[in-house]
Amino acid sequence: MFSEKVVNVGNVNIGGNYPIVIQSMTNTDTTNVEDTLRQINELANVGAKIVRVAVRDMGDIPFFSNIVTHSIVPIVADIHFDYRLAIEAIKAGAAKIRINPGNIGSDEKVRKIVEVAKEYKVPIRVGANSGSIGKEFRHLSRHQALAESALKEVRLLEREGFYDIVISMKSVDPKDNFLANKYVSEIVPYPFHIGITEAGIYEDAAVLSSVGIGSLLINNIGDTIRISISGNPIKEVELAKQLLVLLGFENGIRVVACPTCARAEIDVEKLAYEVKSWVKGKKVNRNITISVMGCIVNGPGEAKYSDIAVVGTKNSSAAIFLKGDLYGTFKNDELKEALLSLLDII
Ligand code: SF4
Repeated sequence: MFSEKVVNVGNVNIGGNYPIVIQSMTNTDTTNVEDTLRQINELANVGAKIVRVAVRDMGDIPFFSNIVTHSIVPIVADIHFDYRLAIEAIKAGAAKIRINPGNIGSDEKVRKIVEVAKEYKVPIRVGANSGSIGKEFRHLSRHQALAESALKEVRLLEREGFYDIVISMKSVDPKDNFLANKYVSEIVPYPFHIGITEAGIYEDAAVLSSVGIGSLLINNIGDTIRISISGNPIKEVELAKQLLVLLGFENGIRVVACPTCARAEIDVEKLAYEVKSWVKGKKVNRNITISVMGCIVNGPGEAKYSDIAVVGTKNSSAAIFLKGDLYGTFKNDELKEALLSLLDII
């Protein structure tokens, strides 16, 4: 969404003014085409626009080719160590490849990958993460070392006349992550793939990734995101979508709610969960905020900037405010219908 340059990953554009692209990676066995395609479909259905698949050895190539042929979204080949794998993955139809030139072996081998990538017009993602800092940069601060390691890889591709680049720098530490990406974003024009590496299990990954990715996005850095969670990748995409909607980068419905206090006249938490379930999956063509507020004393004022506010009143009822103006008062059992019908007309 923010880079100067745009790259095409199959039919998906990354960078420039294009929407931020959510991606994830399969964790099925690449040789199990059926399972892998099933997972790709699930990921696409919850919002992934591109999916990465590990190509581990030459034995994976025919299976990878089959996956690419039948996938409903562009597939990125994730390659380590062997330049020949990158070349074969491109020939098999990869829409993008992710390589780590640091473990490909020599500049000559990277050059051979670049030749084929140019011929097939396939972009290359390069970069570094906190576990792959170049030895020559270890005297630098952590974020600087991360930035310089990634820049070195970019310069290697540029020397070969290759500019169809997506860059990534991922740290386990959100502050290093931010500083490295910020520094490099002021130097290169390429789209940024952002995320926190090794973010851990769901509850930790959710916090770390929200801080790590969110801090960059609100500073206009980041064109494609991958939230990294140990386990089922579906959760990565769902969380990524939630993050983009909550930050206002993607159309959707945000349900916010007051923290409650002694003035609350309804069960705010229960109603907020209910409202979330009522609007789940509802397609809207802009960002809509619904507030659930506990009382009429402060609720309407605090919810002034919401599109719709549901404010607790006495006698098992709630008032609905539209852009700060009273729309009507409804009994609890009338709320769902009133709210959903409003969503269709605002
Ligand atoms: S809206 Fe009312 S109930 Fe909720 S925190 Fe504010 S004063 Fe308390």
